[in-house]
Amino acid sequence: MLIVTEDTCRQVIGRGDAFAAVEAVFAAMAKGDAWNFPVVREAIGYADALYGFKSGFDRAGLSLGVKSGGYWPGNSKKGLTNHQSTVFLFDPDSGQLQALVGGNYLTAVRTAAASAVSIAHLARKNSTVLGMLGAGHQSTFQLRAALEQRNFEKVVGWNLHQDALSKLQVIAQENGLPFESVEREQLAGEADVIITITSAQESLIMKDWVRPGTHIACMGTDTRGKQEVDPALVAMASLFTDEITQSVTIGEAQHAVASGLISEDDISAIGDVINGTHAGRSSESEITLFDGTGVGLQDLAVASAAVRLAVEQGMAQQVEL
Ligand code: NAD
Repeated sequence: MLIVTEDTCRQVIGRGDAFAAVEAVFAAMAKGDAWNFPVVREAIGYADALYGFKSGFDRAGLSLGVKSGGYWPGNSKKGLTNHQSTVFLFDPDSGQLQALVGGNYLTAVRTAAASAVSIAHLARKNSTVLGMLGAGHQSTFQLRAALEQRNFEKVVGWNLHQDALSKLQVIAQENGLPFESVEREQLAGEADVIITITSAQESLIMKDWVRPGTHIACMGTDTRGKQEVDPALVAMASLFTDEITQSVTIGEAQHAVASGLISEDDISAIGDVINGTHAGRSSESEITLFDGTGVGLQDLAVASAAVRLAVEQGMAQQVEL
């Protein structure tokens, strides 16, 4: 059995590796070659923690396994990340445990890769302004991955606490781009691509604020009750997601579905766009919205890539079980 630590994952997996792994598994899901198993997520009645499993099998990439972990709100006071996860990969031919992989860094890069894949396939080619809503742990990964997808000329950002935006400003400046802290309405009116990556439970962006042709990647809503944009905006956009069942239950589309504005038939799998079975954006004026709910197969895909690269670079530890 192999062990690939958090530190090794950071050293071997780059944004390009994560993008390729996530794009390939979205494509496999849309072809029916890869599927996610039902998610388990429970309050354990201890330390205010939420704990669960995300599992699946990718027959095309031969990744079988589970990401286990959850959310421990008291961790930050102890100098630990609140979200904790570990990936277990199994040999699909024998069921034997193949690898134990640190999942915290991988969660951030796979989530950033998902919105980057959506930008690559759905945003207008001439997008120049990137808008970031949210400046928490995931946001820096999101910004770095997004900046590689288009020739952006400016980044605008909003966060509940404005001071946290300075880390996004640093990244924009590292990339030679101006950064401006703005109000949400201005952000929506200026940005060609918007990424929402917050824990909000209400609409932060209203339908009438958004310009024709905008691409929005809603990445924060991954649980029932969370919400980042106006359901009327969801209803007017062309909708894409990683997995339709999750989009309508725990993703951003849950609210528009619950209020009867859309049904699951209005949502397409991003994998179909990648595979060329859906045309994707149909005009320069269309608003596209990617509902990135986060699936276990993304974790397995990047964990498998981490194991492969760690082995190639002599950085995986071999232990007997
Ligand atoms: P974090 O706790 O580090 O940051 C939270 C962010 O949300 C901050 O910017 C904070 O200001 C903002 N926020 C909190 N409450 C808000 C409110 N009421 N209104 C507006 N903004 C608010 O979290 P993180 O690790 O950066 O994750 C951000 C979100 O993304 C979380 O909801 C997390 O569950 C989700 N997430 C989704 C995926 C996925 O695959 N879709 C993966 C990882 C995390």
